[in-house]
Amino acid sequence: LTHAGDLLIVKARQVVTCEPDLSDGSDPEAAELGLIQEGSILVSDRKIRWVGAASDLPAEASGTGRVLDAAGMVVLPGLVDAHTHAVFMGTREREYEMRIRGMTYMEIAQQGGGIISTVSQVRQASLGDLVETSLPRLAGMLRRGTTTVEIKSGYGLDLENELKMLEAIRRLDQQSPVDLVPTFLGAHEFPPEYKDKPGRYVDLVVNGMIPAVAEARLAEFCDVFCERGVFTVEQARLILLRGKEFGLKPKIHADEFADSGAAGVAAEVGAVSAGHLAFASRQGLLAMKQAGTVAVLLPGVSLGLGRCEFADARRMLDLGLQVAVATDFNPGSSMVDSLLIAGSLACSFMKMTPAEVILAITRHAAKALDRQNRIGSLAVGKIADLVLFDVPDFRYIPYHLGGDMVATVIKNGEVVFTRSQGYGPESRIN
Ligand SMILES: [Zn+2]
Repeated sequence: LTHAGDLLIVKARQVVTCEPDLSDGSDPEAAELGLIQEGSILVSDRKIRWVGAASDLPAEASGTGRVLDAAGMVVLPGLVDAHTHAVFMGTREREYEMRIRGMTYMEIAQQGGGIISTVSQVRQASLGDLVETSLPRLAGMLRRGTTTVEIKSGYGLDLENELKMLEAIRRLDQQSPVDLVPTFLGAHEFPPEYKDKPGRYVDLVVNGMIPAVAEARLAEFCDVFCERGVFTVEQARLILLRGKEFGLKPKIHADEFADSGAAGVAAEVGAVSAGHLAFASRQGLLAMKQAGTVAVLLPGVSLGLGRCEFADARRMLDLGLQVAVATDFNPGSSMVDSLLIAGSLACSFMKMTPAEVILAITRHAAKALDRQNRIGSLAVGKIADLVLFDVPDFRYIPYHLGGDMVATVIKNGEVVFTRSQGYGPESRIN
């Protein structure tokens, strides 16, 4: 069963498989998590070869490989951040203060701030600058347990700079242990030079950018910011269907500030996921459920914008939608790079249970990236992306907002992060 180079993770306090079938029945309130108390995991050739109760581990498994003692640890699948804008230049802490002083997102945007200030800095940056500036952000995300990150373009807003952003994502994917999923978001906003001729910009996206992005094989998904004052539902439909024609799977930013019917468009075009949804209608949500579109909720935005409005996660869960939670990491509205913090917000303010949140940042997030067959749970045959948390119970993870709980991160079967010795076990601070 074992080979040199195998990794055996033994006797974890809890293994959270996110596979309901693997549950040992010990925690009926969290049956969906597939919890195994005192569990072990065998990793071989970058994949999970065996997972189960430590007492059931086949004798042959404790052979020649390395052994990682996980006593006292809670093991989760590597976290999946299904919605970010993590490649950008310049930060916007002054706008953060302006909002604290009472200005709204739209007011700041109307004064030339907001997303367009990031666009002009990205346009001025070289490809090398973009890569160099973004690489440490990925290292930070990895330390917080995130092993797969979707990153959108959308700060270039012309052909040359959208391609530059996507090329930066490709290089970052090669240079970082984190796996990156590239999304083309040319329809993020109208660039200043097209502000008075939006139809011509949509034309450029549809006939110029999408074919070029597809030909260069630089994106897997195509996304649109569909919102009152930005792209209409008609424009969103046109762009996403055109993307599909070129093999780009649809995603959408939908109904963040008002119900514009974008959730319905998500369902209509067969979007893999739809983000935000704070104002999505019941009808739109039901259509998404029918279409199998994953709802990606982004509570970090409410934190960043200082709002008390959150998407109605309970309604979506009660309607039977699959719900993911992501950071929306971006310099304007959500300077949040930790899925753990996003998860804590989802628990406290969206009333998702800790178990629902853990599924939302693992299995359902993988589904939102169409990677459910490879990542997002600890099942035999899946890629060995794992996070060891130094906590007494999985519920402690969202409970300790911002806690330094990640002890070890394993990516593709290799240990890529170990917490330094300076900080003792979480249990010691109690
Ligand atoms: Zn976004």
